[in-house]
Amino acid sequence: MSELSDLYQQVILDHNKKPRNFRRLETANRKADGHNPLCGDQLSVYLQMEDDVVRDVSFEGTGCAISKAAASMMTQSVKGKTRVEAETLFDEFHRMVTGELDEEATPNNLGRLKIFAGVRDYPARVKCASLSWHTMHAALVGEEMATTES
Ligand code: ZN
Repeated sequence: MSELSDLYQQVILDHNKKPRNFRRLETANRKADGHNPLCGDQLSVYLQMEDDVVRDVSFEGTGCAISKAAASMMTQSVKGKTRVEAETLFDEFHRMVTGELDEEATPNNLGRLKIFAGVRDYPARVKCASLSWHTMHAALVGEEMATTES
């Protein structure tokens, strides 16, 4: 158990220091903004969808270490996935951090995302960990951005 929390801390620190895909995505055709007023986390998620596949994904914004690390790993996880695969991951991640999914007992696609399972013990942190996923989901189901308008 302490091994897991060591890994958790390492990963959070690493992604917080060097967030992956942390930029505005010029080729995006979907974008959504997310806000977690409990903590003050604020971020935007950009998606470049092509034939129902997430060709590219990025995020930008400000927030606590957990929200930033979770967003960073979210972008790594959904890149190259189909819309359905990305939505499945969102659903599994959300159910894991809210305690509805036992990630060890139930087959799932979470992989490295399992390190976030521990936040279920800290209700105030659940929204930090899931903010980027909610925002990605909003971008997935949302309208395309009007790229012709400046
Ligand atoms: Zn936060």
